[in-house]
Amino acid sequence: MGKKKIIIIGGGAAGLMAADRLCDDFEIAIYDKGKTIGRKFLVAGNGGFNLTNKVEGEDLAQHYLPHYFLEKALLKNDSSKMRSWLSNLGIPSFIGTSGRVFPEKGIKPAQVLKKIKDRLVEKGVNFFFHHEFIGFNEKCNCIVTTDESEMILDADYYIFSLGGASWSKTGSDGKWITTFEKIGIKTVPFQASNCGLNIEWPDHFKTHHSGKPLKNISISIDDLEVKGEAIITEYGLEGNAIYPLTWKIREAFSKGNTPTINIDFKPLNTREQLLQKIKNKPPKTKAFAQALNLNSTQVALIKSFSEKKYFLEPSVFITSVKHLQIPIQSLRPMEEAISTVGGIDLDEVNSNFSLKKHPSIIVIGEMLDWDAPTGGFLLQGCFSMAQAIDIK
Ligand SMILES: Cc1cc2nc3c(=O)[nH]c(=O)nc-3n(C[C@H](O)[C@H](O)[C@H](O)COP(=O)(O)OP(=O)(O)OC[C@H]3O[C@@H](n4cnc5c(N)ncnc54)[C@H](O)[C@@H]3O)c2cc1C
Repeated sequence: MGKKKIIIIGGGAAGLMAADRLCDDFEIAIYDKGKTIGRKFLVAGNGGFNLTNKVEGEDLAQHYLPHYFLEKALLKNDSSKMRSWLSNLGIPSFIGTSGRVFPEKGIKPAQVLKKIKDRLVEKGVNFFFHHEFIGFNEKCNCIVTTDESEMILDADYYIFSLGGASWSKTGSDGKWITTFEKIGIKTVPFQASNCGLNIEWPDHFKTHHSGKPLKNISISIDDLEVKGEAIITEYGLEGNAIYPLTWKIREAFSKGNTPTINIDFKPLNTREQLLQKIKNKPPKTKAFAQALNLNSTQVALIKSFSEKKYFLEPSVFITSVKHLQIPIQSLRPMEEAISTVGGIDLDEVNSNFSLKKHPSIIVIGEMLDWDAPTGGFLLQGCFSMAQAIDIK
């Protein structure tokens, strides 16, 4: 008897990882509406290109929301497994100081993608480009279109890895959502995650400080605190200390609140230590800033969000240094976001990521409604899901 047939629709990170996991035991064809595979993977590579993160075990699972959803898959196939997988493909990786895992120096994202594709080709996986999935027929077979025709694909299993709804030029436009609703699958509207913040800067601040970094800061909202760097932009803030806060900010907006972030410019110093440094200084911002080693951008930001009478009084000045409150107007548009939440409702899937209502259909990657911060956790999530697919 020949091998069973799997059709994978969506040739992004999750789809490619699933193909690699299953190609020894199944006949596999990958369909994508674009002209090539892994377009978002390459975009990810333009920035930091964090393949995964050094965090392992329970600690790794804690980075995902909701915690329970990916726990089993992550514990079984965590970051060390992902690094072994990469190494086996001929992609050595290293852990950076931040815990993020990168390909060894000199290895370009396109080379990583090529290694994956070469192995799939070698193992007989077929690729079909410019094929767009547009829905299911009454037997739940997939319908795809090309420029010339529409066709029905027939397979034993279908794996969907159609991505979320940001960076649509990479193919992930989220338009597939209605096709799943039509076969009775509950979905959740897409929203931006890991994205920048819109903040109403005073004009003079925007003019003089856009593009400047705020380094070694800590930013918090409620009990969530992130250390790192933020970049001041024309419209607000971006950066690695901002993106992990997105879910809390989204939560506040959904409750009708205006969220406020708190910046601590001196996270390594206590209030008391800082107060000692300025308590005998003349009550002038310049003298305080010098004693505390604050740069002009930090001082301008403090002035922009504190009343003048306050920033001349040492103890209140320190409050602004340790706890500067900045109201957030909104999140940046979804199209710009590094990832999205929303998509297939998690109640619809079994632990092997098949649909409860249609067990021969498997859904993985960002098209499911889960969330994780940047820093390698998104690709790790795709990998763990691909490894957890369990079909015979
Ligand atoms: C700027 C940026 C930087 C990033 N950096 C990192 C990082 O450093 N580390 C990290 O872990 N993650 C990073 N990510 C996130 C990561 O790239 C994604 O989470 C990951 O690519 C999701 O994989 P996926 O397979 O679910 O979806 P995608 O990679 O988006 O793939 C979806 C595929 O489905 C295809 N498709 C969609 N609809 C159809 C259809 N109807 N018919 C046929 N094909 C279709 C698309 O063409 C696409 O090829 C970054 C993302 C961005 C935008």
